[in-house]
Amino acid sequence: MRIFQESGHVREEPLELHALGDLPVSSALAVERHLKDCQRCKRESIRIAEFIHILRLLAMQTQACDATTPCETSGSRSRLPDRLM
Ligand SMILES: [Zn+2]
Repeated sequence: MRIFQESGHVREEPLELHALGDLPVSSALAVERHLKDCQRCKRESIRIAEFIHILRLLAMQTQACDATTPCETSGSRSRLPDRLM
């Protein structure tokens, strides 16, 4: 996989994989070396890391909702017949 754009900055896909910890070590080292010197790519990597963090939180909430008590969605669904009558 290509890590760098023609402009010399890190491409978005390797940044995402790096944030997920799925980048091969040799590529991860190249990305980290670039992030140390490049504010632009560092900001981008922080943005991606925050995005992944939010996705994980949402996934956890959905699981908790299914596993234990009924969530708001099923609550509003059970009130639906009243509103229709
Ligand atoms: Zn850069």
